[in-house]
Amino acid sequence: MFRADRVIVDGTERPAAVLVEDGRIVAVPARDAEVDARWADAYREVVLAPDEVLIPGLVDTHVHVNEPGRTEWEGFATATAAAGGVTTILDMPLNSLPPTVDVAALEVKRAAAAGQCAVDVGFWGGAIPGNEGDLRALHLAGAFGVKCFLLDSGVPEFPPLLDPGPAMREVASFGGLMMVHAEDGRLVGKAAGRRYADFVASRPRAAEDGAIAGLLRLARETGARVHVVHLSSSDALGLLAAARADGVAVTVETCPHYLVLTAEEVADGDTRFKCCPPVREADNRDALWQGLVDGIIDMVVTDHSPCTPDLKHLDPADPFCGDFGEAWGGIASLQLGLPVVWTEARRRGRPLDDVVRWMAQRPAALAGLTRKGRIAAGCDADLAVFAPEETFTVGALHHRNPITPYAGRELRGVVRQTWLRGEIVDATAPRGRLLTRGTHA
Ligand SMILES: [Zn+2]
Repeated sequence: MFRADRVIVDGTERPAAVLVEDGRIVAVPARDAEVDARWADAYREVVLAPDEVLIPGLVDTHVHVNEPGRTEWEGFATATAAAGGVTTILDMPLNSLPPTVDVAALEVKRAAAAGQCAVDVGFWGGAIPGNEGDLRALHLAGAFGVKCFLLDSGVPEFPPLLDPGPAMREVASFGGLMMVHAEDGRLVGKAAGRRYADFVASRPRAAEDGAIAGLLRLARETGARVHVVHLSSSDALGLLAAARADGVAVTVETCPHYLVLTAEEVADGDTRFKCCPPVREADNRDALWQGLVDGIIDMVVTDHSPCTPDLKHLDPADPFCGDFGEAWGGIASLQLGLPVVWTEARRRGRPLDDVVRWMAQRPAALAGLTRKGRIAAGCDADLAVFAPEETFTVGALHHRNPITPYAGRELRGVVRQTWLRGEIVDATAPRGRLLTRGTHA
């Protein structure tokens, strides 16, 4: 059992005791509640230090593990070892080979992950042109939903849906979830060169806004439940709020980098900052925070998407030589997501329970993981001991390719311990389970 002065209990902070049995939380009484002798006998009592908060393990529904096929970019062992306070990861269907676009590929993924994962891992499927007939089978086989692109994904084996209508109708027919990378390729220009401003101009807010408008129309028409991944353009917030008010089943995520980094600070040639859609201007960042506080943006997940240094066009001898047109777009931040977001949230006067809602409770709800993302009776005892005031400077990382735009940054908030189903996470003895949709209710 745990006792702490500060526990985020089902969304609200209070002093509490957390009683755990067989990996599950069975009760959350008052901090100094007298408990049955069997708890004292059978379980070690963990009393948190005064500067620590017990929070639910985070649920990151947007991670590119890239194994098998591009394991040199990342992998199940390194990604799950790197998970700073994250106890559940949902892996994206692309960048691994084969991409997860049918049940056979899902089985390949599961076989690759088995026995390697320090935390629990589930899988998204993928929708590409012509695989509408595979989507229901993926759903029945336990994929949590399917993801599609509306423009070039960056890898040839995962082409975009230029008309997502048929796939959305199919997803709606079985009550599934369609996740969408919403940028309109017709409004995206060809970027080239070292200048960051040119890269941002090549992927304007309008390209996102237009794609989201079209997506919302289709969601209304087909009845499909849709989720906008990595929202970057704050100009789309009004559209999203209006659609939701109108009953369209749409949820929205953004990522730590859009909430923290700004275009103004990116040096030309520093392709560590490249991601798609891009990190935009400071005023856009501030508006995204407002969208989050207003509840138009539901959640914050990392879109952890690392690659090897050569693909980032990084040269140790000349760190600012990168070409934004050529470099891989993706930011690695699985290990840093919590302190990155917390540092900024705190600066903006937001409490820790907001961050927990955005990074644990809401992502779990998106995936239908009813036992994850909360400290409440019946939930898995997935917990993190977090010291919110402790500072550190970003140094060595566990990711296979520890390239990150946060290098050298001073952040606040240290995860001192992580527990998965009642036991401390130990990357050398991986106990993570492979999760399937629906069976984890
Ligand atoms: Zn992604």
